[in-house]
Amino acid sequence: MYDFTYARVSSVADAAKQLKGDDDAKAVAGGMTLIPTLKLRLAKPSALVDLGGVKDLAGIKVDGKTVTIGAMTTHGAVAASAEVKKAIPALAHLAAHIGDPAVRNRGTIGGSVANNDPAADYPAGVLALGATIVTNERQIAADDFFKGMFETALKPGELITAISFPVPEKAAYMKFPNPASRYAMVGVFVAKTAGGVRVAVTGAAPSVFRQKDMEAALTKKWAPDAIEGIKQKQDGLNSDIHASAEYRAHLVGVMAKRAVQAAG
Ligand SMILES: Cc1cc2nc3c(=O)[nH]c(=O)nc-3n(C[C@H](O)[C@H](O)[C@H](O)COP(=O)(O)OP(=O)(O)OC[C@H]3O[C@@H](n4cnc5c(N)ncnc54)[C@H](O)[C@@H]3O)c2cc1C
Repeated sequence: MYDFTYARVSSVADAAKQLKGDDDAKAVAGGMTLIPTLKLRLAKPSALVDLGGVKDLAGIKVDGKTVTIGAMTTHGAVAASAEVKKAIPALAHLAAHIGDPAVRNRGTIGGSVANNDPAADYPAGVLALGATIVTNERQIAADDFFKGMFETALKPGELITAISFPVPEKAAYMKFPNPASRYAMVGVFVAKTAGGVRVAVTGAAPSVFRQKDMEAALTKKWAPDAIEGIKQKQDGLNSDIHASAEYRAHLVGVMAKRAVQAAG
């Protein structure tokens, strides 16, 4: 690790103050990604601002047709939440299949979404459900948030405080996990929402994306066979030691059909 200063804050305002004016300062949430990155000397932050003591940032609220999850809520808490299981079971299922118990007990929804790892699960749920990312400065629609590999619309020092999910009519998430890490080789989240059908794919490309051909077909007919003939293009998909672009393209179709089947 390189040297850095460390501050544990107790409010979002304090955190924002510590981060302001220093583009090399970083917030730390669960530390599941950031700490290994520091250990490997892949990042050299000047300061770490620990959000662990900001009580307001953790928790789940259900208000009518909206589920709002605080940024510091762990994957384990989302997976175990009776309210999330009732309102958006697909989201609880997604959280329950992230990594291993240690990762689920430390990793947070805010950290996962801010990090925008190409193989992370939450970005698929956030995009398919048409969620809103709430920060200490503004509200950002999911469609405007994910910009590219590890890149989001967040400005330096801007903090996610919560994510609001509209409750869908139907939804499901299916992933083909990397057997070592459980990250998604390909994961597909399908949702029938008040704003229409949305299909989001993670793991396959440098960043999560919507599969518009499948959305159009599922809008006409919500059934696995409606997307039977739709082939995901290989162009721009990831090819690495885990899977080729061709294999990932094939998995998009398989996972999408399984997700529609599971959504019912
Ligand atoms: C072994 C292993 C297996 C994993 N498997 C999976 C998996 O199967 N699926 C999956 O989706 N993920 C997986 N993960 C990732 C994990 O789930 C965490 O979500 C992820 O590491 C980031 O969350 P965190 O709370 O640990 O964030 P941190 O590591 O603390 O931070 C990550 C980044 O987000 C920024 N950040 C954190 N919180 C905020 C905030 N509120 N506002 C703005 N920026 C913020 C930090 O500055 C940093 O840049 C795995 C991780 C490990 C180590």
